[in-house]
Amino acid sequence: MSKESIYSLTFDQLTAWFIEYKYKQHRASQVWNWLYRKRVTRLSEMTDVPEKCLDLLEEHFAFCSLTEYLRQESQDGTIKFLFQLHDNHLIETVLMKHKFGLSVCVTTQVGCNMGCSFCASGLLNKKRDLSSGEIVAQIMAVQQYLDRENPAEQVSHVVVMGIGEPFDNFTNLVSALQILKDQKGLAIPARHITVSTSGLADKIYDFADVNLRVNLAISLHAPNNELRSRIMKINRLFPLETLMPAVAYYLRKTNRRITLEYILLKDLNDSKEHALQLVGLIGEKRQFINVNLIPYNPVDEHQQYRRSEHDSLLAFYDTLKKQGISCSIRLEHGADIEAACGQLRSRYNR
Ligand code: SAH
Ligand code: SF4
Repeated sequence: MSKESIYSLTFDQLTAWFIEYKYKQHRASQVWNWLYRKRVTRLSEMTDVPEKCLDLLEEHFAFCSLTEYLRQESQDGTIKFLFQLHDNHLIETVLMKHKFGLSVCVTTQVGCNMGCSFCASGLLNKKRDLSSGEIVAQIMAVQQYLDRENPAEQVSHVVVMGIGEPFDNFTNLVSALQILKDQKGLAIPARHITVSTSGLADKIYDFADVNLRVNLAISLHAPNNELRSRIMKINRLFPLETLMPAVAYYLRKTNRRITLEYILLKDLNDSKEHALQLVGLIGEKRQFINVNLIPYNPVDEHQQYRRSEHDSLLAFYDTLKKQGISCSIRLEHGADIEAACGQLRSRYNR
């Protein structure tokens, strides 16, 4: 059994650990500061922590849980990391450079069980969940890379849109978000964090109840059950008449907006009629919903799906706009390095 990653602990859990081992509480603040502010890569670098205490930490926790296996840089500055976990599984993490800052796209599971028929991640079934430490360690590894290469640069945004279904790993996701947000540590503002789910309605209620103030995005991709069940099998478990009330609950409870993600697939979900169905589905909630239209990233194994023509994308956008729906088109990052969800990892097949 391998040791737990030190990045798995929230500040309160680290404090409780020190108290259990009869150390003063301020040791937790010191260690936290070394981990997330100074971002050391070895315990021995924590120079103001007594050696006995470091030995005890060493005995209980693993420090570096990720090994860089591959790194690819795109012409637009996007960097894709393939990290190896302690049990040899590979996961993807992507750093994207925007005008507004640097964002990291993180993975939450090794593979994914949701099996959406257009997605490269769904090709490889879930092998296991990532621990909260392994989720946090992805941001730390990218930040430590920046600290070495470009010390002025800091990760400012996190999107939970890598491999896996975050709400199928709910507890570890919530702990990881608490750690990323912690004011004494990385202090990534909640409004700079976005979690994307394929629509596990029961967990949308739970997420509303924990109310972390982060952004929520839902992968809708189709405006009716027939089509959605065809491309996303999760819709058979949580059809639109179950999903939409969960969305309404989330809006009521958190007072925050929700993004509906919609991949445009040629001749499948991209007609004017589909756009109008989507308007109908959003209905009265339009004030609180933003639709994000996503150009499809072709996947070799899913030849039946093609990217919509640019004109169809614009027409879809116009129809939504004319009906008063707030709408944006997602820019692509790193298309030349297979930055679409799960594509790079699927080449290595583990
Ligand atoms: N499992 C979560 C989060 C990871 S996927 C979810 O499904 O929401 C992140 C986003 O990328 C989702 O909206 C997903 O539907 C979309 N996606 C998957 N494969 C894609 C592809 N080939 N091209 C464009 N978007 C894709
Ligand atoms: Fe899983 Fe999301 Fe891909 Fe669906 S789109 S298979 S939920 S990673």
